[in-house]
Amino acid sequence: MKLEKLLSLPKIHLHCHLDGSVRPNTMLELMKQDGYMGKDKKEEFINKIAVLDKTVSLEEYLKKFEIPISVMQSKENLKRIAYELIEDCNSENIKYIEIRFAPWFHCKNGLAMEDVIQAVIDGANEGKAKFDVEFNLIICLLRHESYEVNKEQLYAAKKFLGSKVVAIDLAGDEQKYPADQFVELFDKAKSLGFHITIHAGETGNFENIDKSIELLHAERIGHGTAAIKSEKTMKILLDKNIPLEVCVTSNYNTGIVDRIIDHPIYKYIKKNLIVTVNTDNNTVSNTTLTNEYIKIISNFRLTDSEVINTIENAISFAFCDEGTKDKLRQKLLYIGNAKD
Ligand SMILES: [Zn+2]
Repeated sequence: MKLEKLLSLPKIHLHCHLDGSVRPNTMLELMKQDGYMGKDKKEEFINKIAVLDKTVSLEEYLKKFEIPISVMQSKENLKRIAYELIEDCNSENIKYIEIRFAPWFHCKNGLAMEDVIQAVIDGANEGKAKFDVEFNLIICLLRHESYEVNKEQLYAAKKFLGSKVVAIDLAGDEQKYPADQFVELFDKAKSLGFHITIHAGETGNFENIDKSIELLHAERIGHGTAAIKSEKTMKILLDKNIPLEVCVTSNYNTGIVDRIIDHPIYKYIKKNLIVTVNTDNNTVSNTTLTNEYIKIISNFRLTDSEVINTIENAISFAFCDEGTKDKLRQKLLYIGNAKD
């Protein structure tokens, strides 16, 4: 696919963490407002907040979130960061994004979880009004946090169900905190009417994908990189029509694949699994959705129709209403059929 066509395609982003996607310049500016005196050169600062190549582990990757989270403790800052993410979507022709975050991370200076969610909605709405970008929000429950904290996050999310918060996610260390521990919370989320997506099989554990579907009602799987190890898991994904939110660079950063070419994404496409393309974290993984497509196209020689198919998948399995999906499909049809 020619770069020009890729840039012009309307794109959909289903797996994007707000705290992992704060603009570096904004982070630095907000840190200075809070009294930060460091005189980091741009390259030094990037090293603190992004993984430019590989880390040794997911834990090390997760450390990169400390700085952005430190500046995401006020309504104004959250609003600005959400607005800028929508503006960034516009600059690479992303027409719909599901922004995810854990409100709990932003309550360190006294904000209530509801304030956090409202500030993100306000900022993103402001962006939506200015740019032609639709959005919804996904609230991340956290594997390492207590039942009480996660329950509080779920009930804060409930207040915004039907007004921008559409789904619940589960993020964090899936080895130490397996699916079984979260059954009650996700039964509740399901009964309240939330969509559900779960980070699973990001590291080596494919059983966690099976369990997320079986026990936690997952409708989509975040990453699913380990599914390639199990025919049974891939059959479940295929039979139940469960898409994967694939994040290639992020998986490379955390050392799950040695090289981009070793990523199972192309095998998944060839096996007819439902694949969507995502960044996970624009800033922490130092990437963009367009860049993810460029990497995938150049490494796996995806055809134009395979590329467009990943966008169609993302539209079909987005947690938005049918009217929005129709509009997105129209945009894709118009550009996707255009001659090179
Ligand atoms: Zn993620």
